[in-house]
Amino acid sequence: MQISTDRSPAPVSEARLAEILADPGFGQHFTDHMLRVEWTPEKGWHQARIEPYGPISMDPATAVLHYAQEIFEGMKAYRHPDGSVWSFRPEANAQRMVRSSRRLALPVLEESDFVQAVDALVEVDARWVPTTEAGDERSLYLRPFMFASEPFLGVRPSRHVTFMVIASPAGSYFKGGVSPVRIWLTEEYTRAARGGMGAAKTGGNYASSLVAQQEAAEHGCDQVVFLDAQEGTYIEELGGMNLYFVHRDGRIVTPETGTILEGITRASIIELAKEMGHTVEERRFSIQEWKDGVASGEITEIFACGTAAVITPVGELVWDGGSAPSLPHGDVATKIRGRLVDVQFGRAEDTHGWMHRII
Ligand SMILES: *Cc1c(COP(=O)(O)O)cnc(C)c1O
Repeated sequence: MQISTDRSPAPVSEARLAEILADPGFGQHFTDHMLRVEWTPEKGWHQARIEPYGPISMDPATAVLHYAQEIFEGMKAYRHPDGSVWSFRPEANAQRMVRSSRRLALPVLEESDFVQAVDALVEVDARWVPTTEAGDERSLYLRPFMFASEPFLGVRPSRHVTFMVIASPAGSYFKGGVSPVRIWLTEEYTRAARGGMGAAKTGGNYASSLVAQQEAAEHGCDQVVFLDAQEGTYIEELGGMNLYFVHRDGRIVTPETGTILEGITRASIIELAKEMGHTVEERRFSIQEWKDGVASGEITEIFACGTAAVITPVGELVWDGGSAPSLPHGDVATKIRGRLVDVQFGRAEDTHGWMHRII
C-alpha cells in the first residue's frame, strides 16, 4: 500500500508535549497526525494518506450515522528502555478486524496493509510514544477504525468505506496502585445473542452496554457483567473486558460461549498461565458457580483483562438484592500481569515472538 504524508504545519510544541506525556490520562489528547484510506467497490482501497489530525467533515446522510456500520480495534505502541518502539501482536488485531468486517459487511483490509498503516502513523508521530520508568506504564494507544462513509439512507452495505488510524498517549490505568473493581450483575440487559455481533468489535455493542453501565454506576459499581442472552445463566464478559476465575487448586476458568469478544490479552494470558503451571479451562461458567465458588472459598481470585488496563482484579459482585463477599487482589493476577507487561515494555525476553518492532 502506497501511503502519502502531509506533515502538520502546526505540531504540538515540545514543551506542551512534555506536559501532556507527563500525565496523559486516557483518550483525551491526540497526536499531530491521522491516517486515512478510502474504499469503493470499483477502486478497492486507495488514497492512503497521513494528514494533520483534525475534524472530518461528513454529509448528514452518511450511512454510519444512521445504521452504525462500523468496527474498530484497540492496541498500543510501547517504548523500550533502548528507545525502540514496538507493538504487541498487531497481526492478531488485523485478523480480528477482518473477522469484524465480515460480520458488519465491510470490505476486508489485508493484514499486511493494516500493520503497515498502524506502523506508518506511529513512525510519523514517534515523539508521542512516551518513555516509561519502572512501575509506570505509559504507552501510545492506537485506535484503527472503519466506517460506512457513503451519504445514502438506503439500507445496504455502504459503497464508500473509510479506514482511519488515530493515536492517543495513555497513562497508567491505575494511578496510585491497582485496586479491585466492584462489578454489577445486570439481569435485565444482555450484550450479545447467538447469531448476533458479540464476537465483532463494533460500536453497536458498546452503545447497547451503556444503559447497563449506567445502572452499575447507580449501584456504586465500576463495571457491569453480562450473562448469556439465551438462558441468562452463563457469564459472558464485562462491557469491554474478558474474565478469569482462579480456583483453590490453581485451575483457571475463563468463559467461552461463542458470543464473547476474543480478546488478544485473553489469548495471551491463557498461554502465560499454562506456562506458569496453571490448568486453563475455556468453558461455560455460570453465575451460580461464581456465587458458590466465592462463598465456599473454592474461587480465590477473579480478574478481568483487556488492552487498556491489561489485568484488573475483581473484588465484589453486586446484584439486585444481594452481593458476594469481596475478594482481595491476588498473587496469580499480579504475577501474570507482571510477566505480560514486562514483555510489552521490553523488560523481559519475548519468547513467543509477540512483539513487532516499529522503530
Ligand atoms: C476489545 C474488547 C475486549 C478486550 O480485547 P483485547 O484484545 O484484549 O483488548 C474484550 N471485550 C470486548 C467486548 C472488547 O471490545
